[in-house]
Parts: sequence; C-alpha cells; structure tokens
Amino acid sequence: MQHFFKKSLGQHFLVNKSILKKIVSVKDIRDKVIFEIGPGQGALTKEILQNNPKKLILIEKDKNLRSYLLKLQEKFKDTIYYIYDDALNINLKDFNYNKIQIISNLPYNIATTLIIKLIIDFDIVESMVLMVQKEVAERLCAKVSTPYYSRLSVLIQLHAEVEKVFDVEPHNFNPKPKVKSTVIKIIPYRKKKKIYDKLDHILKISFRQRRKTIKNNLKTFYIDAEKKILECAIDPNSRPQDLKPNDFIKLSKVLI
Ligand code: SAM
Repeated sequence: MQHFFKKSLGQHFLVNKSILKKIVSVKDIRDKVIFEIGPGQGALTKEILQNNPKKLILIEKDKNLRSYLLKLQEKFKDTIYYIYDDALNINLKDFNYNKIQIISNLPYNIATTLIIKLIIDFDIVESMVLMVQKEVAERLCAKVSTPYYSRLSVLIQLHAEVEKVFDVEPHNFNPKPKVKSTVIKIIPYRKKKKIYDKLDHILKISFRQRRKTIKNNLKTFYIDAEKKILECAIDPNSRPQDLKPNDFIKLSKVLI
C-alpha cells in the first residue's frame, strides 16, 4: 500500500541506514525502557530493536502507518507497546517506569513544544537522543550573548546538559526536508528546579522583544520591575539575551 506523506505531521522518513545506526549508538540502550516518538514506517524502530531494549514504547499520531509496524509488533510482541496518539497528550509518568530513555527523529512541527513539555518529567528521563531541525539544535545549545540564545536555551540548559552530536543533510530523508537536521543528546540533571512555571513565565515576558531592555520587557507586567532587577544585581538596561540562565532564576524568585 502506498503511503502519502503528510507534511503537516513532519513526515520525513530517514532512509540512510548508517545514520539510523549512528543515532541508536549515541547511548547504550540494552535492557533499558525506551520511548520512540513518531516511529513512522519503523526505520529507527528496527535499529532500536537490534540493540535489545527491555521495553520499547512507540507513540505515533498517524494511524495509517499501523500496517508498516504490524510485522515488528508480532515479532517483538513482548517488547513493543504501541500507542496511536499525539505525543503532546502523553504523560510519561502514567507508564509507571522510574527510568526511561527517549529516542526520536522528531516531527519538526512539535519539536520545541514537546521538548519543553518533557522537562516536567526529567526526574524519570535518563537521556534523550533527538533529531531536530538544525536551527532548533542551535537554540537549545546557544550560550549567553549569542544570536540563538532564547527562552528555549535557558529552560533546557537549567535542567539538562545539551550536546550537538552530528548534522544530517536533507538527502538522507524521503521526502527531502528544506532544512538541515541535527542529532542532539540531552542528559537531564538529577536535581530538578522547582520553580519551573514561574521561570517559564518570566522567560516568555523577557524574550518577547529582544531589542528592548530587560527593564522595558518586564515592566509591562511588573510595576516594580526596575527595583527588583537591581535587587538581583542585574543591569536593568541589559538586553534579555545578555542575562545568564541563573539571572532568570533570580528574577523568578523576586518578581511576584
Ligand atoms: N521515525 C521515523 C524515521 O526516522 O524515519 C519517522 C520520523 S518522521 C520525522 C516523524 C514521525 O512523527 C511521523 O511518523 C509522524 O507521523 C509522527 N508524528 C507527527 N506528529 C506527531 C505527534 N504529535 N505525536 C506523535 N507522532 C507524531
């Protein structure tokens, strides 16, 4: 049966076997509980299974892809558990595992939202090996005062170590995407920051307008913004991209 690729679901299937192998070899997955988001036609799934995970939970939104995975499901029926749903609706903790790993060639359209959502569950996530759009990888890894430094950089870097592993050119996919991709490795820190919601709120306001000073971005929401910024020993006239991740933690503690 011919499958018609759904652009809206970011369906760019990896067709280069050596890259599939390279992704799976980034972290040791033997005897581990693995979640794969968007297994598609099962190319990465097969490579994961070659490495003997204890359990492999597959989350795919497109039910039309079910036929591609039936054989794998039969052959590995004790290992594979298949869910047809939107990964954004899934709560990892509902599965009752206390340690999991995530491997995925992420659909471009949900990558950022999903990574941010997963931070909440980082206490049970041992590692994530993800293929994302190169630009998203740049934002995840960006250091302070560089062009890609953003809300995403701060949020992830306060909760995990992030590393670019390798780039993947468009010709390795079918159909070819317009942009380059990058495989990244995310290792969550064991200690979880508890002020997540407040921190994210401050970050959203702070980065609303990068050209504006931190004082001008924050004062729309907080009347005493300037006083509080000074209390944190931060220059109120700095731009948001010049504040270190820890400065945002300080601000989220004092701004009420
Ligand atoms: N893993 C396959 C590979 O590497 O070739 C396919 C990767 S493809 C980039 C992304 C996959 O995610 C597609 O199969 C798509 O249907 C699925 N997908 C898209 N949005 C999704 C969502 N919100 N939740 C779960 N799966 C989704």
